[in-house]
Amino acid sequence: MAICYIGLGSNLSNPQRQIQLAVQCIRAHTGITQIALSALYCSQPMGPQDQPDYMNAVMAINTKLTPIELLDALQAIERQAGRVRKGERWGARVLDLDILLYDQEIINTPRLTVPHYGMKQREFVLIPLAEIAPKLTLPCNSNVSTLAESIDKNALTIHSQLS
Ligand code: ATP
Ligand code: CA
Ligand code: CA
Ligand code: CA
Repeated sequence: MAICYIGLGSNLSNPQRQIQLAVQCIRAHTGITQIALSALYCSQPMGPQDQPDYMNAVMAINTKLTPIELLDALQAIERQAGRVRKGERWGARVLDLDILLYDQEIINTPRLTVPHYGMKQREFVLIPLAEIAPKLTLPCNSNVSTLAESIDKNALTIHSQLS
Protein backbone atom coordinates (compact mmCIF):
# COMPACT_ATOMS: atom_id res chain seq x y z
CA MET A 1 0.00 0.00 0.00
CA ALA A 2 1.24 3.46 -0.92
CA ILE A 3 0.22 6.80 0.57
CA CYS A 4 -0.43 9.31 -2.18
CA TYR A 5 -1.58 12.90 -2.47
CA ILE A 6 -3.83 14.02 -5.31
CA GLY A 7 -4.41 17.63 -6.38
CA LEU A 8 -7.90 18.37 -7.68
CA GLY A 9 -8.83 21.42 -9.75
CA SER A 10 -11.76 22.72 -11.79
CA ASN A 11 -12.95 26.03 -13.26
CA LEU A 12 -15.82 25.01 -15.56
CA SER A 13 -19.34 23.55 -15.28
CA ASN A 14 -19.94 24.23 -11.57
CA PRO A 15 -16.41 23.67 -10.22
CA GLN A 16 -17.57 23.02 -6.64
CA ARG A 17 -19.81 20.20 -7.85
CA GLN A 18 -17.05 18.85 -10.14
CA ILE A 19 -14.62 18.60 -7.22
CA GLN A 20 -17.20 16.96 -4.93
CA LEU A 21 -18.11 14.44 -7.67
CA ALA A 22 -14.44 13.68 -8.35
CA VAL A 23 -13.85 13.05 -4.63
CA GLN A 24 -16.72 10.55 -4.69
CA CYS A 25 -15.37 8.83 -7.83
CA ILE A 26 -11.87 8.54 -6.34
CA ARG A 27 -13.26 7.12 -3.09
CA ALA A 28 -15.45 4.66 -5.00
CA HIS A 29 -12.42 3.04 -6.70
CA THR A 30 -11.81 -0.40 -5.18
CA GLY A 31 -8.04 0.13 -5.16
CA ILE A 32 -8.20 3.46 -3.30
CA THR A 33 -9.13 4.46 0.26
CA GLN A 34 -9.37 8.09 1.35
CA ILE A 35 -7.20 9.07 4.31
CA ALA A 36 -7.83 12.83 4.40
CA LEU A 37 -9.44 15.61 2.40
CA SER A 38 -8.72 19.35 2.53
CA ALA A 39 -11.26 22.12 2.43
CA LEU A 40 -12.35 23.49 -0.94
CA TYR A 41 -10.23 26.50 -1.91
CA CYS A 42 -10.82 29.26 -4.47
CA SER A 43 -7.72 30.30 -6.45
CA GLN A 44 -6.65 32.62 -9.26
CA PRO A 45 -5.88 30.99 -12.65
CA MET A 46 -2.28 30.25 -13.65
CA GLY A 47 -1.26 31.27 -17.14
CA PRO A 48 -4.11 32.65 -19.29
CA GLN A 49 -6.10 35.15 -17.15
CA ASP A 50 -9.20 35.25 -19.38
CA GLN A 51 -10.77 32.26 -17.62
CA PRO A 52 -12.84 31.73 -14.46
CA ASP A 53 -11.28 31.34 -10.99
CA TYR A 54 -10.46 27.79 -9.90
CA MET A 55 -11.68 25.55 -7.13
CA ASN A 56 -8.97 23.30 -5.66
CA ALA A 57 -8.56 20.63 -3.04
CA VAL A 58 -6.01 18.01 -2.03
CA MET A 59 -6.83 14.44 -1.04
CA ALA A 60 -4.62 11.90 0.76
CA ILE A 61 -5.21 8.28 -0.19
CA ASN A 62 -4.00 4.79 0.53
CA THR A 63 -3.73 2.77 -2.68
CA LYS A 64 -2.69 -0.62 -3.95
CA LEU A 65 -2.47 0.79 -7.51
CA THR A 66 0.93 1.32 -9.10
CA PRO A 67 1.72 4.94 -10.10
CA ILE A 68 0.69 4.33 -13.74
CA GLU A 69 -2.48 2.49 -12.70
CA LEU A 70 -3.32 5.44 -10.46
CA LEU A 71 -2.73 7.90 -13.34
CA ASP A 72 -4.95 5.77 -15.62
CA ALA A 73 -7.70 5.74 -12.98
CA LEU A 74 -7.50 9.52 -12.48
CA GLN A 75 -7.48 10.24 -16.22
CA ALA A 76 -10.54 8.00 -16.64
CA ILE A 77 -12.33 10.11 -14.00
CA GLU A 78 -11.25 13.32 -15.83
CA ARG A 79 -12.68 11.94 -19.09
CA GLN A 80 -15.88 10.87 -17.35
CA ALA A 81 -16.27 14.46 -16.13
CA GLY A 82 -16.12 15.53 -19.78
CA ARG A 83 -12.60 16.94 -19.93
CA VAL A 84 -11.55 17.77 -23.45
CA ARG A 85 -7.82 18.40 -23.92
CA LYS A 86 -7.31 21.56 -25.96
CA GLY A 87 -4.06 22.97 -27.29
CA GLU A 88 -3.77 25.80 -24.77
CA ARG A 89 -1.52 25.14 -21.78
CA TRP A 90 -3.20 25.77 -18.42
CA GLY A 91 -6.50 26.59 -20.14
CA ALA A 92 -9.94 26.23 -18.54
CA ARG A 93 -10.95 22.65 -17.63
CA VAL A 94 -13.85 20.75 -16.09
CA LEU A 95 -11.53 18.59 -13.97
CA ASP A 96 -7.80 18.20 -13.40
CA LEU A 97 -6.42 15.42 -11.20
CA ASP A 98 -2.66 15.48 -10.58
CA ILE A 99 -0.58 12.98 -8.64
CA LEU A 100 1.41 15.19 -6.27
CA LEU A 101 3.25 12.47 -4.33
CA TYR A 102 3.44 8.68 -4.39
CA ASP A 103 5.03 7.64 -1.09
CA GLN A 104 8.54 9.08 -1.23
CA GLU A 105 9.08 7.81 -4.80
CA ILE A 106 10.81 9.84 -7.48
CA ILE A 107 9.41 8.98 -10.92
CA ASN A 108 10.56 10.46 -14.23
CA THR A 109 8.86 8.79 -17.19
CA PRO A 110 7.21 10.27 -20.31
CA ARG A 111 3.73 9.99 -18.75
CA LEU A 112 4.54 10.66 -15.15
CA THR A 113 6.73 13.01 -13.12
CA VAL A 114 6.44 12.54 -9.35
CA PRO A 115 6.62 14.56 -7.15
CA HIS A 116 4.52 16.82 -9.42
CA TYR A 117 6.99 19.27 -11.00
CA GLY A 118 5.00 22.40 -10.10
CA MET A 119 3.81 21.63 -6.59
CA LYS A 120 6.41 23.68 -4.71
CA GLN A 121 5.53 26.82 -6.70
CA ARG A 122 1.72 26.57 -6.39
CA GLU A 123 -0.13 28.04 -3.40
CA PHE A 124 -3.32 26.15 -4.35
CA VAL A 125 -1.39 22.88 -3.88
CA LEU A 126 0.88 23.65 -0.91
CA ILE A 127 -1.70 25.33 1.33
CA PRO A 128 -4.38 22.58 1.13
CA LEU A 129 -1.61 19.95 1.38
CA ALA A 130 -0.24 21.60 4.54
CA GLU A 131 -3.79 21.70 5.93
CA ILE A 132 -4.09 17.88 5.82
CA ALA A 133 -0.41 16.86 6.21
CA PRO A 134 1.51 19.62 8.01
CA LYS A 135 4.36 17.35 9.07
CA LEU A 136 4.83 15.80 5.63
CA THR A 137 8.30 16.01 4.12
CA LEU A 138 8.92 15.83 0.37
CA PRO A 139 11.59 13.56 -1.15
CA CYS A 140 13.78 16.70 -1.45
CA ASN A 141 13.53 16.98 2.38
CA SER A 142 11.43 20.19 2.35
CA ASN A 143 8.70 20.33 4.98
CA VAL A 144 5.26 21.04 3.54
CA SER A 145 4.22 23.56 6.24
CA THR A 146 7.45 25.50 5.82
CA LEU A 147 6.88 25.71 2.06
CA ALA A 148 3.21 26.70 2.54
CA GLU A 149 4.08 29.44 5.05
CA SER A 150 6.60 31.08 2.74
CA ILE A 151 4.60 31.03 -0.53
CA ASP A 152 2.62 34.03 -1.83
CA LYS A 153 -1.06 33.25 -1.15
CA ASN A 154 -2.07 34.96 -4.40
CA ALA A 155 -5.63 35.64 -3.10
CA LEU A 156 -6.25 31.97 -2.24
CA THR A 157 -9.29 31.60 0.06
CA ILE A 158 -11.14 28.76 1.72
CA HIS A 159 -14.50 28.49 -0.01
CA SER A 160 -16.21 25.74 2.00
CA GLN A 161 -15.77 22.28 3.49
CA LEU A 162 -16.17 19.21 1.28
CA SER A 163 -18.08 16.15 2.41
P1 ATP B 1 0.40 20.90 -15.06
O1 ATP B 1 0.97 19.52 -15.28
O2 ATP B 1 1.37 22.03 -15.21
O3 ATP B 1 -0.37 20.99 -13.76
P2 ATP B 1 -1.98 20.27 -16.52
O4 ATP B 1 -2.39 19.58 -15.26
O5 ATP B 1 -2.97 21.19 -17.14
O6 ATP B 1 -0.64 21.12 -16.25
P3 ATP B 1 -2.47 18.08 -18.20
O7 ATP B 1 -2.85 18.47 -19.57
O8 ATP B 1 -3.57 17.74 -17.24
O9 ATP B 1 -1.52 19.21 -17.58
O10 ATP B 1 -1.50 16.82 -18.23
C1 ATP B 1 -0.55 16.61 -19.22
C2 ATP B 1 0.17 15.31 -18.96
O11 ATP B 1 0.94 15.37 -17.76
C3 ATP B 1 -0.72 14.10 -18.70
O12 ATP B 1 -1.14 13.50 -19.89
C4 ATP B 1 0.18 13.16 -17.87
O13 ATP B 1 0.68 12.06 -18.63
C5 ATP B 1 1.35 14.05 -17.49
N1 ATP B 1 1.79 13.97 -16.10
C6 ATP B 1 3.11 13.94 -15.74
N2 ATP B 1 3.23 13.88 -14.41
C7 ATP B 1 1.97 13.86 -13.91
C8 ATP B 1 1.46 13.81 -12.57
N3 ATP B 1 2.30 13.76 -11.50
N4 ATP B 1 0.11 13.80 -12.41
C9 ATP B 1 -0.70 13.86 -13.48
N5 ATP B 1 -0.28 13.91 -14.77
C10 ATP B 1 1.05 13.92 -14.98
CA1 CA C 1 -12.45 2.83 -2.32
CA1 CA D 1 -2.44 20.42 -13.11
CA1 CA E 1 -3.10 17.38 -14.98
